[in-house]
Amino acid sequence: MSARLVLLGPPGAGKGTQAARLAERLGVPAISTGDIFRANIRGGTELGRTAQAYTARGELVPDEVTNAMVRDRLAQDDAAEGFLLDGYPRNVAQVAELDAVLAADGRGVDLAVELTADPEVVVARLLHRATVEGREDDTEDVVRHRLTVYTEQTAPVAALYAERGLLAQVDGIGDVDEVTQRLLDAIGQPAR
Ligand code: ADP
Repeated sequence: MSARLVLLGPPGAGKGTQAARLAERLGVPAISTGDIFRANIRGGTELGRTAQAYTARGELVPDEVTNAMVRDRLAQDDAAEGFLLDGYPRNVAQVAELDAVLAADGRGVDLAVELTADPEVVVARLLHRATVEGREDDTEDVVRHRLTVYTEQTAPVAALYAERGLLAQVDGIGDVDEVTQRLLDAIGQPAR
Protein backbone atom coordinates (compact mmCIF):
# COMPACT_ATOMS: atom_id res chain seq x y z
CA MET A 1 0.00 0.00 0.00
CA SER A 2 1.37 3.41 -0.82
CA ALA A 3 1.13 5.72 2.14
CA ARG A 4 1.05 9.37 1.25
CA LEU A 5 -0.48 10.68 4.39
CA VAL A 6 -1.29 14.03 5.94
CA LEU A 7 -1.72 14.39 9.69
CA LEU A 8 -3.90 17.29 10.77
CA GLY A 9 -4.89 18.49 14.20
CA PRO A 10 -4.71 21.49 16.50
CA PRO A 11 -1.46 22.43 18.22
CA GLY A 12 -1.04 20.18 21.25
CA ALA A 13 -3.16 17.33 19.89
CA GLY A 14 -0.07 15.12 19.88
CA LYS A 15 0.73 15.12 16.17
CA GLY A 16 4.49 15.04 16.60
CA THR A 17 4.48 12.07 18.98
CA GLN A 18 2.04 10.12 16.87
CA ALA A 19 3.70 11.03 13.56
CA ALA A 20 6.99 9.49 14.71
CA ARG A 21 5.25 6.28 15.80
CA LEU A 22 3.14 5.97 12.67
CA ALA A 23 6.06 6.65 10.37
CA GLU A 24 8.10 3.91 11.99
CA ARG A 25 5.24 1.50 11.77
CA LEU A 26 4.44 2.34 8.14
CA GLY A 27 8.06 2.58 7.00
CA VAL A 28 7.77 6.09 5.64
CA PRO A 29 9.50 9.29 6.78
CA ALA A 30 7.65 11.64 9.12
CA ILE A 31 8.10 15.13 7.72
CA SER A 32 7.31 17.84 10.24
CA THR A 33 7.46 21.40 8.96
CA GLY A 34 7.57 22.67 12.56
CA ASP A 35 10.63 20.48 13.29
CA ILE A 36 12.38 21.59 10.11
CA PHE A 37 11.79 25.24 11.04
CA ARG A 38 13.04 24.67 14.60
CA ALA A 39 16.18 22.89 13.33
CA ASN A 40 16.88 25.84 11.04
CA ILE A 41 16.28 28.33 13.84
CA ARG A 42 18.73 26.45 16.07
CA GLY A 43 21.23 26.24 13.22
CA GLY A 44 20.98 29.98 12.54
CA THR A 45 20.30 29.50 8.82
CA GLU A 46 18.69 32.15 6.66
CA LEU A 47 15.52 30.03 6.51
CA GLY A 48 15.60 29.87 10.31
CA ARG A 49 15.91 33.64 10.65
CA THR A 50 12.95 34.16 8.32
CA ALA A 51 10.84 31.52 10.03
CA GLN A 52 11.50 32.65 13.58
CA ALA A 53 9.79 35.99 13.09
CA TYR A 54 6.55 34.08 12.41
CA THR A 55 6.83 30.97 14.59
CA ALA A 56 7.56 33.03 17.72
CA ARG A 57 4.25 34.86 17.23
CA GLY A 58 2.27 31.76 16.28
CA GLU A 59 1.72 33.04 12.74
CA LEU A 60 2.15 30.86 9.69
CA VAL A 61 5.46 31.23 7.90
CA PRO A 62 4.73 32.66 4.41
CA ASP A 63 3.62 30.04 1.90
CA GLU A 64 6.42 30.74 -0.57
CA VAL A 65 9.00 29.86 2.10
CA THR A 66 7.16 26.82 3.44
CA ASN A 67 6.17 25.46 0.04
CA ALA A 68 9.71 25.60 -1.32
CA MET A 69 11.00 23.82 1.77
CA VAL A 70 8.41 21.02 1.52
CA ARG A 71 8.94 20.65 -2.21
CA ASP A 72 12.67 20.06 -1.61
CA ARG A 73 12.02 17.62 1.19
CA LEU A 74 9.52 15.57 -0.82
CA ALA A 75 12.01 15.33 -3.67
CA GLN A 76 14.41 13.35 -1.48
CA ASP A 77 14.69 9.62 -2.16
CA ASP A 78 13.21 8.42 1.11
CA ALA A 79 9.87 10.09 0.30
CA ALA A 80 9.48 8.43 -3.11
CA GLU A 81 7.23 5.63 -1.87
CA GLY A 82 5.38 7.50 0.81
CA PHE A 83 5.52 9.99 3.63
CA LEU A 84 3.63 11.27 6.61
CA LEU A 85 3.32 15.04 6.59
CA ASP A 86 2.93 16.62 10.02
CA GLY A 87 2.03 20.31 9.97
CA TYR A 88 1.56 20.62 6.22
CA PRO A 89 -0.61 21.58 4.42
CA ARG A 90 -1.83 24.12 6.93
CA ASN A 91 -3.97 26.34 4.74
CA VAL A 92 -5.95 25.89 1.54
CA ALA A 93 -3.23 27.38 -0.69
CA GLN A 94 -0.75 24.80 0.64
CA VAL A 95 -3.19 22.03 -0.31
CA ALA A 96 -3.13 23.28 -3.90
CA GLU A 97 0.67 23.37 -3.81
CA LEU A 98 0.92 19.84 -2.44
CA ASP A 99 -1.54 18.62 -5.07
CA ALA A 100 0.62 20.18 -7.78
CA VAL A 101 3.87 18.72 -6.44
CA LEU A 102 2.40 15.22 -6.25
CA ALA A 103 0.46 15.45 -9.52
CA ALA A 104 3.72 16.15 -11.35
CA ASP A 105 4.58 12.48 -10.64
CA GLY A 106 1.03 11.23 -11.16
CA ARG A 107 0.47 10.98 -7.42
CA GLY A 108 -1.83 12.36 -4.76
CA VAL A 109 -2.54 12.24 -1.06
CA ASP A 110 -4.01 8.87 -0.05
CA LEU A 111 -5.55 9.99 3.23
CA ALA A 112 -5.65 12.91 5.65
CA VAL A 113 -6.08 11.97 9.28
CA GLU A 114 -7.28 14.61 11.71
CA LEU A 115 -6.37 14.15 15.34
CA THR A 116 -9.14 15.88 17.30
CA ALA A 117 -8.85 17.37 20.77
CA ASP A 118 -10.75 19.81 22.93
CA PRO A 119 -9.18 23.30 22.76
CA GLU A 120 -8.96 23.68 26.55
CA VAL A 121 -7.19 20.32 26.83
CA VAL A 122 -4.61 21.28 24.22
CA VAL A 123 -3.96 24.67 25.81
CA ALA A 124 -3.32 22.95 29.14
CA ARG A 125 -0.99 20.41 27.47
CA LEU A 126 0.99 23.08 25.68
CA LEU A 127 1.40 25.23 28.78
CA HIS A 128 2.67 22.17 30.60
CA ARG A 129 5.04 21.39 27.71
CA ALA A 130 6.37 24.93 27.94
CA THR A 131 7.66 24.21 31.42
CA VAL A 132 9.38 21.01 30.17
CA GLU A 133 10.69 21.90 26.70
CA GLY A 134 10.75 25.68 26.85
CA ARG A 135 9.44 26.17 23.33
CA GLU A 136 9.36 29.85 22.51
CA ASP A 137 5.85 29.62 21.04
CA ASP A 138 4.25 27.90 24.04
CA THR A 139 3.31 30.99 26.06
CA GLU A 140 -0.42 31.29 26.74
CA ASP A 141 -1.03 34.20 24.35
CA VAL A 142 0.87 32.55 21.50
CA VAL A 143 -0.76 29.16 22.16
CA ARG A 144 -4.21 30.74 21.95
CA HIS A 145 -3.23 32.54 18.77
CA ARG A 146 -1.98 29.27 17.22
CA LEU A 147 -5.38 27.75 17.99
CA THR A 148 -7.14 30.66 16.30
CA VAL A 149 -4.90 30.28 13.27
CA TYR A 150 -5.75 26.57 13.25
CA THR A 151 -9.49 27.25 13.32
CA GLU A 152 -9.33 29.93 10.67
CA GLN A 153 -6.77 28.51 8.27
CA THR A 154 -6.28 24.79 8.91
CA ALA A 155 -9.80 23.60 9.74
CA PRO A 156 -10.77 24.42 6.11
CA VAL A 157 -7.99 22.04 5.00
CA ALA A 158 -9.72 19.20 6.86
CA ALA A 159 -13.02 20.21 5.26
CA LEU A 160 -11.41 20.09 1.83
CA TYR A 161 -10.09 16.56 2.30
CA ALA A 162 -13.51 15.57 3.70
CA GLU A 163 -15.14 16.81 0.49
CA ARG A 164 -12.77 14.57 -1.44
CA GLY A 165 -13.70 11.60 0.74
CA LEU A 166 -10.13 11.48 2.04
CA LEU A 167 -10.56 12.53 5.67
CA ALA A 168 -10.49 10.27 8.71
CA GLN A 169 -11.03 11.76 12.16
CA VAL A 170 -9.43 10.21 15.22
CA ASP A 171 -9.95 11.12 18.87
CA GLY A 172 -6.58 12.37 20.12
CA ILE A 173 -7.51 12.22 23.80
CA GLY A 174 -6.37 9.13 25.64
CA ASP A 175 -3.38 6.93 26.25
CA VAL A 176 -0.57 7.42 23.69
CA ASP A 177 -0.59 3.74 22.62
CA GLU A 178 -4.35 3.75 22.34
CA VAL A 179 -4.32 6.83 20.09
CA THR A 180 -1.61 5.22 17.90
CA GLN A 181 -3.80 2.16 17.47
CA ARG A 182 -6.82 4.32 16.58
CA LEU A 183 -4.71 6.05 13.95
CA LEU A 184 -3.46 2.77 12.50
CA ASP A 185 -7.05 1.52 12.36
CA ALA A 186 -8.10 4.67 10.53
CA ILE A 187 -5.24 4.27 8.07
CA GLY A 188 -6.19 0.65 7.55
CA GLN A 189 -3.04 -0.90 8.91
CA PRO A 190 -3.64 -4.34 10.49
CA ALA A 191 -2.72 -4.70 14.18
CA ARG A 192 0.61 -6.39 14.81
P1 ADP B 1 1.94 23.17 16.47
O1 ADP B 1 1.20 22.22 15.60
O2 ADP B 1 2.04 22.73 17.89
O3 ADP B 1 1.48 24.58 16.34
P2 ADP B 1 4.32 22.96 14.75
O4 ADP B 1 5.61 22.45 15.26
O5 ADP B 1 3.57 22.14 13.75
O6 ADP B 1 3.46 23.21 16.05
O7 ADP B 1 4.51 24.41 14.11
C1 ADP B 1 5.16 25.44 14.81
C2 ADP B 1 5.14 26.72 13.98
O8 ADP B 1 5.85 26.51 12.74
C3 ADP B 1 3.77 27.20 13.53
O9 ADP B 1 3.12 27.98 14.53
C4 ADP B 1 4.13 28.04 12.30
O10 ADP B 1 4.67 29.28 12.68
C5 ADP B 1 5.25 27.24 11.66
N1 ADP B 1 4.73 26.28 10.66
C6 ADP B 1 4.72 24.93 10.77
N2 ADP B 1 4.17 24.37 9.69
C7 ADP B 1 3.81 25.40 8.86
C8 ADP B 1 3.17 25.48 7.60
N3 ADP B 1 2.77 24.40 6.94
N4 ADP B 1 2.97 26.72 7.06
C9 ADP B 1 3.36 27.81 7.70
N5 ADP B 1 3.94 27.81 8.91
C10 ADP B 1 4.18 26.62 9.50
